[in-house]
Amino acid sequence: MITVIGSANMDLVVGAENFPNQGETVLGNVFDTVPGGKGANQAIAAARLGSETHMVACVGNDLFGTSIVNNLQQNTVGVTGVATVDGASGIANILLSEGDNRIIVVPGANSLLMPAHIDEIEDLIKRSDLVMLQLEIPIPTVVYTLAKCQAIGVPVMLNPAPARGFELDMMPSITYLTPNETECEQIFGMDMVSALEKYPNRLIITLGNDGARFFDGEKHVIVEGFKTHAVDTTGAGDTFNGALAHGIVAGMELERAVRFANAAASLSVEKFGAQGGMPSFEEVAARLE
Ligand code: ATP
Repeated sequence: MITVIGSANMDLVVGAENFPNQGETVLGNVFDTVPGGKGANQAIAAARLGSETHMVACVGNDLFGTSIVNNLQQNTVGVTGVATVDGASGIANILLSEGDNRIIVVPGANSLLMPAHIDEIEDLIKRSDLVMLQLEIPIPTVVYTLAKCQAIGVPVMLNPAPARGFELDMMPSITYLTPNETECEQIFGMDMVSALEKYPNRLIITLGNDGARFFDGEKHVIVEGFKTHAVDTTGAGDTFNGALAHGIVAGMELERAVRFANAAASLSVEKFGAQGGMPSFEEVAARLE
């Protein structure tokens, strides 16, 4: 069983011909509300592949909070660990125009996920084969969760995004760290090869369409990505993490799990939206054939 402790948001997507200048109002041509947040995305990626998955998060007592919880349930993610708090749910305001985007994230309820809540869901952690974390909730809560998981003896996969919240002294209590290349550089401040050699079988770096790599203690293992026609890479990293977690919990060797995750993520970039393209187990199996 996998427990994801992290963010759950509603993405408010607005499209227009041009971005408005300061003080200007422009007419838009697209508006959509899409559930997101790295925590919820990763939970749904793992659940869609068939893992029993539970979400621990905070949503607001607004309409978005209800939709976020409904969406998790529709994707078979357990929501007993999702608390509803007074105030607004986390949102990302995404402006799309001129082939580019401008995003404002308001963490809202996500910033109210406190260590006391982690104590309340200790039972979920105890039942887990793997706990997944990202850095879109308060860092003290991440630090507290890492210590608890270590005390209980549950392995942790931490996706250090956004990287600026990462602290190097978290490393001893992390089983798998999954940065992309930029995050890796920001965190370790050294070249990728040196970082990989410091953390054999624990540091897995994603390389966009090139796939992912890790060091197995003797050699560098570069697991090639699956070439495909990408239409939207939003959520590729989240799909990779959810699928890697699924593979590891299902007992795959690390290299096989990374290949499985590459296949899942390559399918996710073929469709629009972070969650829209997340594949089923059968779709990934077909890609791996
Ligand atoms: P994002 O922030 O866009 O969700 P990321 O920066 O966290 O992603 P990346 O390294 O870009 O992470 O991508 C994660 C994984 O997704 C890669 O390891 C790879 O398996 C897959 N992937 C990403 N882009 C492509 C692509 N264009 N074609 C095929 N696979 C891709």
